[in-house]
Amino acid sequence: MNEEGWSFRCKDCGSTELYVEHEYSITEVIVHFLECSCKVGNDFAAQGTSYVTVTHVDRMALDDDHRLGDVEETEEVDTTEEEDDYEVQCHKCLRDAQEDDWSTEVESSDIDSDSHEFYVRCAGCD
Ligand SMILES: [Zn+2]
Ligand SMILES: [Zn+2]
Repeated sequence: MNEEGWSFRCKDCGSTELYVEHEYSITEVIVHFLECSCKVGNDFAAQGTSYVTVTHVDRMALDDDHRLGDVEETEEVDTTEEEDDYEVQCHKCLRDAQEDDWSTEVESSDIDSDSHEFYVRCAGCD
């Protein structure tokens, strides 16, 4: 038995391989915008913002020296969507609007800095 370094053996399955899951969320801020075609609204007929948060899990091998390998796969595990109230400047255009009249723009897409979680898991029990 090698006394040096660190070794792991799972008591459930006997595997000596571990992997690490890195969980984090990315939030996209999406602006929905409807132009006012009758010029009653100053800049727009209606505008709103939605926040789409997707939880990602990266899987990485963990070697015996506690070093993390490259990301082997990324999974999207959860999506939540929140909408702000719409600001309406022209009710007529909003009423007449078709789905296609709305334009959407991704304003930002950022990793939530307080969302990082790391889990060590047994590769054998996977
Ligand atoms: Zn209008
Ligand atoms: Zn195991």
